[in-house]
Amino acid sequence: MDDHSAQTLLPLATEIFAAPSAQPRRAARRAQRDLFSTPAGERPDSGICVLASGSAGNCSALWIGEAEHEDGPTATWSGPPVRERLVLIDLGLSPSVTRKRLHAQGLSLDLVGSVLLTHLDRDHCHEGWCGEHSLLPPGCEVFVPKRSRDRAKSMNLNAGVFHAFDSRFRTRAGLEALPIMLSHDQHGAAAFRLTLARERAWARARNLGSAGTGIGYATDLGRATPELVEHLKHVAILAIESNYCPTLQDVSDRPDFLKRRITGGRGHLSNHECLDAIHAIEPRDHVVLLHLSRECNCPLLVASLHEGADYAMTISTQDEATRWVRLAPPPVPSTIITPTFTAPAC
Ligand SMILES: [Zn+2]
Repeated sequence: MDDHSAQTLLPLATEIFAAPSAQPRRAARRAQRDLFSTPAGERPDSGICVLASGSAGNCSALWIGEAEHEDGPTATWSGPPVRERLVLIDLGLSPSVTRKRLHAQGLSLDLVGSVLLTHLDRDHCHEGWCGEHSLLPPGCEVFVPKRSRDRAKSMNLNAGVFHAFDSRFRTRAGLEALPIMLSHDQHGAAAFRLTLARERAWARARNLGSAGTGIGYATDLGRATPELVEHLKHVAILAIESNYCPTLQDVSDRPDFLKRRITGGRGHLSNHECLDAIHAIEPRDHVVLLHLSRECNCPLLVASLHEGADYAMTISTQDEATRWVRLAPPPVPSTIITPTFTAPAC
């Protein structure tokens, strides 16, 4: 869908929707938005950038940097070796396009230490990454959901070298991934809660739980189940799909079987289902919307649904990378100040 048709459809779709009320405006929270997204071209110490998202290819870059706060336990954290700092989530772009998009961010494939795959559909695992020779740097870890292991073998993914997961795992760079499997087509898709070693140390030192830490990454999820909501509750950054507008899906020229596949609970999340999931998950800082359908969705319409929300928001696209979204440590709970009382002298 091009911008012209999106402009035409917006008034119609806005009227149709009578969207559920977004969170009330909170000026103080909105004022924090600039803290969590970086100016174009700038990469934060640690954060995520969606290189592309949509049915023509999905790939996100996660950068794990050094400490940026000079107090507390992070002062001694030096971060992983440079060659392990870049993590890719999904390989849905061809190797050459991935290279170009990374290059535009000042990064290269040589820095990829780990790859996490949500599932192996073509838009998440491009055939260019399969074959006799690996195009990833030597020692790069590739993680695949266990139920996709046989398929990965038959595809010769990364020259047949990968790890299959069905529970919590850690990359060499100390990134902890808590996967949960979701219904999506035949093989399902994994969603992740990802936390940096630095975040965990920060929270441990302050006796904080996992609330307010990490990145939730959920795409191609069929339905946002209660288990998913619990799994991603209170993450710092939530990247989640907002695939289609039900009205535009309904009036599209797509065959009925395809509409049923997408909307039937084992396909994709609609804009409203995504909105409901965000309200239930209550991310701390930032929401990144993934996998918008070009045919059955419209970024302007999606933006209007989140109007007034108390989280910052980035809408990813197929054609260019998003800005970097900074992963900041959780705020330390303020201590209660007890007033001291001094008895007046008699
Ligand atoms: Zn997909």
